[in-house]
Amino acid sequence: MPTKKSTGRRCSFCGRPENEVGLLLNGLDGCICNECATQAYDIVQEALHGKGGKKEGFALTDIPKPKEIKEYLDGYVIGQDSAKRSLSVAVYNHYKRITQQTADEVDIEKSNIILVGTTGTGKTLLARTIARFLKVPFTIVDATVLTEAGYVGEDVESILSRLLQVADYDVDAAQRGIVFIDEIDKIARKSDNPSITRDVSGEGVQQGLLKLLEGSVVNVPPQGGRKHPEQKFIQVDTRNILFICGGAFDGIEQKISQRLNTQVVGFDSVQHREGIDRSNMMRYVSPQDLKSFGLIPEIVGRLPIVTYLEPLDRNALRSILTEPRNSLVKQYTKLFGMDEIELTFSDDVLDFIVDKAVEFKLGARGLRSIVEAIMMDVMFELPSTDSKSYTVTREYAEKQISKSENARLSAL
Ligand code: ADP
Repeated sequence: MPTKKSTGRRCSFCGRPENEVGLLLNGLDGCICNECATQAYDIVQEALHGKGGKKEGFALTDIPKPKEIKEYLDGYVIGQDSAKRSLSVAVYNHYKRITQQTADEVDIEKSNIILVGTTGTGKTLLARTIARFLKVPFTIVDATVLTEAGYVGEDVESILSRLLQVADYDVDAAQRGIVFIDEIDKIARKSDNPSITRDVSGEGVQQGLLKLLEGSVVNVPPQGGRKHPEQKFIQVDTRNILFICGGAFDGIEQKISQRLNTQVVGFDSVQHREGIDRSNMMRYVSPQDLKSFGLIPEIVGRLPIVTYLEPLDRNALRSILTEPRNSLVKQYTKLFGMDEIELTFSDDVLDFIVDKAVEFKLGARGLRSIVEAIMMDVMFELPSTDSKSYTVTREYAEKQISKSENARLSAL
């Protein structure tokens, strides 16, 4: 390996010559090497945020009551009342359990949560909003990228590495954090009967996740952590980490109706069956259905709170555009406001956006890309003009959308 030539310059802090360090930065009367700069950064962080570099936010002192949590969620998430109530109660109990751990024989078990609902209905948004409210470290992982140890992909431990990163390597804070595991349904094994079709990959990942969900001390590779460069692993106890899992569980309605049908075979079957809302089977989802879908019983047992999200109808989509605290309309209005341009969306343009979102079948997820496509040219042109106000009309929106649809088609 070629060695760097000595230039005579040295780090004014550690004294090492330039050829022994990765990078030497020049100052007025001296130099600093990359390692000393990193260390200096850590010292500054500790001095500013207190010992251990703890951020103020991550202190759980006053746990908000379930009603307060729900009210906060109402500000950001439209509808989904039943999910909000279950989540608020589960989260309240979880943090009460952590902060008031006493040494009596009543051991309150952890209540991890599973949210079932189609894509773009607000599962991630709910989890993220709760974490922001509680000011606890929060991370999202996609279950589909996880693989069994030894295979290409990410080990389940990587989930904790990310949580540590978000908590700025404050292990205590990370141990009280929230992890959202998305697409948990994608690691279901393909058959309910393990002895017939063993879908090893999905089941292996589930086994790995189980270890985290049930609470254990896990050795986590720090992955670039500055605070513990000497340590190969950081030990993280997952007992108090709240796991919220989400999944669309496509086709679970069938499992639900199968179960309901077999259950109602009996003397009061007709009565029972009449009470069932066939158009929305998802609301009857139970742990048993998750098992039939392909989650292993141990995982289902560790996700005792099962709740569902309603598909978003036109009214809900319309409200999502304008009502949440950071609704799309509010965001764009603010963006234009920064250029002192008063932006308005006409009512019928909002209807048009909702129509398109329904057509694209992406739930609320589609709204942003539609609004973005409509606004692109305006955002490009307007800041360079003298305009003080702008109204987005339906006619203009239709033109922009057909233009972007054509562009997409011609790119195919
Ligand atoms: P999911 O996790 O269910 O697939 P997300 O929570 O990621 O869906 O939602 C995608 C986007 O759609 C969010 O960023 C949010 O802006 C919007 N959204 C979805 N559902 C709602 C809702 N119920 N209320 C407000 N916004 C929503």
